Amino acid sequence: MDDCVFCKIIEGEILGEVFMENQDFLAIRDINPKAPQHLLVIPREHVASLEGTEGWPDEKVAEMFRFVRMVADKAGIRDSGYRVLSNVGEDAGQVVFHLHVHVVGGAGLGDFA
Ligand code: AMP
Repeated sequence: MDDCVFCKIIEGEILGEVFMENQDFLAIRDINPKAPQHLLVIPREHVASLEGTEGWPDEKVAEMFRFVRMVADKAGIRDSGYRVLSNVGEDAGQVVFHLHVHVVGGAGLGDFA
């Protein structure tokens, strides 16, 4: 999609630090990390947020969560624990309107969310 920063990373038009990828999803390092490990899991298909997954087959939703777990494993935070979070819309403070799941860990994260 035009003017979508994550679509541009997926298309190779701008540089992103790709951490892992498969046919449907990418994990990139967040440009402004909030913890020692801060990855973003992004579908190749442009949907604005979790709300855009309404028409997805159940298997694709499950695959996204499997991919999150594989990312956590590769990042070395599966045993120590990690947070999975996706901002949806204005009140959540969503800034990039291409669905992404934050995978954050590598240190104690406090008790919010
Ligand atoms: P939010 O939409 O609130 O979940 O926040 C968007 C996230 O994307 C923020 O944590 C940003 O640091 C991150 N971000 C924005 N642009 C880039 C980029 N070009 N590469 C990697 N991460 C980015």
